[in-house]
Amino acid sequence: MQRRSVIHTTSTLALGALTGCALPGVAQTDIKTPFAVATTTVPIVGSTLVFPVRRIYCIGRNYAAHAREMGSDPTREPPFFFQKPTDAIQNVAPGSVANHPYPSLTKNYHYEVELVAALSKGGRNIPISTALDHVYAYAVGLDMTRRDLQRALGDEKKPWEIGKSFDRSAPIGPLHLASLTGPFMQGGIWLKVNGVLKQNANLNQMIWSVAEQIAKLSEAFELMPGDIIYSGTPENVGPVVRGDVIDCHIDGLPNLGIKIV
Ligand code: MN
Repeated sequence: MQRRSVIHTTSTLALGALTGCALPGVAQTDIKTPFAVATTTVPIVGSTLVFPVRRIYCIGRNYAAHAREMGSDPTREPPFFFQKPTDAIQNVAPGSVANHPYPSLTKNYHYEVELVAALSKGGRNIPISTALDHVYAYAVGLDMTRRDLQRALGDEKKPWEIGKSFDRSAPIGPLHLASLTGPFMQGGIWLKVNGVLKQNANLNQMIWSVAEQIAKLSEAFELMPGDIIYSGTPENVGPVVRGDVIDCHIDGLPNLGIKIV
């Protein structure tokens, strides 16, 4: 009896290994890999489900006053985007202050508080008028930036990826369903360091709205469920050092807190 059971199991495994891809009726988890790779997920408030992150898109210079402080003219600049690696996500539970390691290679580490939109529907050339139908949920996020590296590489006309797209550079609070919150067209967005107000603006000051960002992005990339968008930061970005506590707020969402360690 035991022997038969072993033989049966072995032959099933061999079939899966031989084909190497999903068979009808065989779950994808049966695919064999030589080692495990973590999947990035973000908790969803009020749900036992978690949101699987496919890509992280970020928009640059999306508030006029911030574009000016970065040295560009906001009135003539079309939106531009960059990406962070999916595993740059650092999940932060609401009401907590998560330890956030000061990264390597920088002496000028900056905060950027941003509204994050998470998509459950994708597409190409999505019209602005229906773009928000693709948003599943919203969260507060931080686009942490090694500003000295970003600037130095930009000055040399090299990709500034190392300044933006590094480990844990995307702290994020839990997702809140768009069906419950509605769209975030306006409302306060602010950031404090050690209790002192640093960034303080309104979401309605975005140069390109979330709907316009989705429309523009979908001209360059086929958007997919699981994509999330960091929608840009207001003016008055600045540096933090070890020991600093950052408190981020967007009206209608719980605050996001991290401590630089
Ligand atoms: Mn940013």
